[in-house]
Amino acid sequence: MTARPAPLHARHRAVMPDWLALYYREPLELTHGEGRHVWDAQGRRYLDFFGGILTTMTAHALPEVTKAVAEQAGRILHTSTLYLDRHMVELAERIAALSGIPDARVFFTTSGTEANDAALLLATTFRRSNQILAMRNGYHGRSFSAIGVTGNSSWSPTSLSPLQTLYVHGAVRTRGPYAHLSDREFTEACVADLEDVLGQAHGNVAALIAEPVQGVGGFTAPPDGLYAAFRDVLARHGILWISDEVQTGWGRTGDHFWGWQAHAEAGPPDLLTFAKGIGNGMSVGGVVARADVMNCLDANSISTFGGSPVTMAAGLANLTYLLEHDLQGNARRVGGLLIERLRAIAAGLPVVREVRGRGLMIGIELAAPDGSPAPQAAALALEAARDKGLLIGKGGREGHALRIAPPLTLTVAEAEEGADILEETLRHVQDAFGGKDRS
Ligand code: PMP
Repeated sequence: MTARPAPLHARHRAVMPDWLALYYREPLELTHGEGRHVWDAQGRRYLDFFGGILTTMTAHALPEVTKAVAEQAGRILHTSTLYLDRHMVELAERIAALSGIPDARVFFTTSGTEANDAALLLATTFRRSNQILAMRNGYHGRSFSAIGVTGNSSWSPTSLSPLQTLYVHGAVRTRGPYAHLSDREFTEACVADLEDVLGQAHGNVAALIAEPVQGVGGFTAPPDGLYAAFRDVLARHGILWISDEVQTGWGRTGDHFWGWQAHAEAGPPDLLTFAKGIGNGMSVGGVVARADVMNCLDANSISTFGGSPVTMAAGLANLTYLLEHDLQGNARRVGGLLIERLRAIAAGLPVVREVRGRGLMIGIELAAPDGSPAPQAAALALEAARDKGLLIGKGGREGHALRIAPPLTLTVAEAEEGADILEETLRHVQDAFGGKDRS
């Protein structure tokens, strides 16, 4: 008699690193998707409000992208930036034009981490400094340098990065010394903090790296214009601004195509990084930079897989679909309705400290009655929503904020359906944790 294979979950645990987190007590094996829905190995259907952690920017199995990938895979699969590729050049041209950065150059990578790594390499080389400014509670990836500028301690497993990083206040408004301030006071206090931090630097600082809306940090953002105010200070010191648009790019925030545009008075950033959604599931990342910054490297540098023909074909098809169907406008309209509905639901539920966000990037912060973060409430919400057929994410330093980021084609009916499930879920969490959160 042949022994039955162990469940996939046990096999995963046995062979993968312990720190590779899986969502859910009973982890989910997803086998296929369509539109805004995914199915698990048992055939159960879920409404996807986390967009495959924002990689499925447009829709699951979008026919336009699937066709582009299949056609290119059947044509040529060679990779390496050593050869010309029509898709790569065209996608770079379009991203350069969309970026808002004058005379922009684009370098493709395979991930957000690698995009930030490249941006940090460029900025430190250009400025001949390994000192970087970064935001408290921020996340930029898992390479040695990206970890070195990640202020969210629960996602920063080593302090041994070769970068010297100075962290500044700015994105988190529900805790810390500036929590009670108005937008204007908050901005002034953060600018003063930036000036103070710069006073402690050893001469030249290379760059500020920041997410316009913090992703892993729990979809938390500064008041509009904060980075423009920072820019005035940075410009005085010649410090570059790297906008990490890995989660905020491509219209997700509804009002803007890029997150930096909520801070547009100071003009575009010097460098912009992107990844996740542009490939609609294929690994496309990259860095856009001013030509002088991009061209500061004086040795050859190539990428084997960055910009490979199949991923570039996917990116082009996806970008074309996104623009032709005005998915930024859809994010604004449908996301606006969803935020309004969630705020109404939250009004009667003290466990919800805040519903925040823009477009289809919505955070729901959960708190104990004394206002402290409630990670156990968030964990329960994730399980309860899944039981009701809805996938959501969580984030924040303690994992206490729910993250809502559906594919950008979300319909009004699907938004209503998801909001109904979230209402039941949050009521359940309120009942379980209401007056006596033990987290
Ligand atoms: N920057 C931000 C803002 C991110 O959210 C992430 C991924 N969560 C990264 C960088 C790293 O991207 P990747 O996982 O593709 O390396």
